[in-house]
Amino acid sequence: MFQTNQLLKTIMGVSNAKPSLDSMLATFDRELENFQTLVQPDSESKPRTAFDSPHLTFDDMYMSRLTLPQILSFLPVMLPLRMRMSQSARMYDGKFQPPHSLASPEFVAALENMARSAGAADIRYVRVPRNTIFQHKGIPNEYAVIITVEMDEDKMSSAPSFDAFLEVAKGYGNLARIGNQLAHFMRHSGFAAYPGTALGGLTDYTHLAEIAGLGAIGYHGLLITPNEGTRLRINTIYTNITNLPIQTENEHLWVRDFCAMCKKCMRGCPVQAIYEQPRPRGDGGMQCIDHAACRDYFNQNYGCAICLAKCPFSEMGYEKVKVRFKGNPKAPQFRIPVETLPVVRAVGKE
Ligand code: SF4
Ligand code: SF4
Repeated sequence: MFQTNQLLKTIMGVSNAKPSLDSMLATFDRELENFQTLVQPDSESKPRTAFDSPHLTFDDMYMSRLTLPQILSFLPVMLPLRMRMSQSARMYDGKFQPPHSLASPEFVAALENMARSAGAADIRYVRVPRNTIFQHKGIPNEYAVIITVEMDEDKMSSAPSFDAFLEVAKGYGNLARIGNQLAHFMRHSGFAAYPGTALGGLTDYTHLAEIAGLGAIGYHGLLITPNEGTRLRINTIYTNITNLPIQTENEHLWVRDFCAMCKKCMRGCPVQAIYEQPRPRGDGGMQCIDHAACRDYFNQNYGCAICLAKCPFSEMGYEKVKVRFKGNPKAPQFRIPVETLPVVRAVGKE
């Protein structure tokens, strides 16, 4: 057990008493100090959700129960993920000076082809509203490319399990790989490109993905899309390209009308962390779950994901749910407004 603890801490590059994703992410965040100016969060922006459960010991966490075969299958996933996230973070050295900010349709087509060839499920674009930037963070550019990857249906349906946990880690690894590949291509073409670190990040990826029209956020707080249901992960690449083909309509917001009648995730959550109804937040987003209540179970049970596995959009698929759902005009609406122009200001000068 001691060896597992030490091994995971070494991979994460942290010196805490136990493995700490939050400490690892904090080392990536420090790269932001390389920038004179960053697009700032809104005064009402929420903080990034913490992964760590402060009062759990390592012995309480599922990681302490990993068997040797599980560790041996986890390492080839975890090591490349860690390496790719470090590569993403190193691109925030503040040195790249982009000569261009307008992309041709040919460039956008090549970017999308590259994303799909590399394994992305989808790719969209957004002008990042300041209310989606986490408190005390900032981003180098105000536009973003949003990419998603799909996770395996069988493996995710077994959640909470080691197989589902490993599949999630693979999803993050793929996101980091694709994000870095696309960012290098964008830079070689003369555009600014800063990939998010797949896990954690500087902005609320789910919120951004909904604004970009990829899908809708369900009552479990996860994105629901036509092809993947809830079996997906999201990453961003911040860029200075000002003429990306940004979609302004979202055809998926009916999903929350269905959620208002379904609430299967709420009933199935073992620690009742999912609210009966999402709560609108001051930043324009909505709070779907009590993260403090979710976190301990999550850290003790392979990252849980029961709410993902049991959602009808995962089990039955988006189209089948849509066909069967007749609409409910009385259902609550929590559509998230897109804020106007983000303002560029120096970090720490507010
Ligand atoms: S389980 Fe039901 S209520 Fe929960 S997110 Fe899925 S569709 Fe919505
Ligand atoms: S991950 Fe598990 S504990 Fe957390 S909200 Fe979903 S079902 Fe509940």
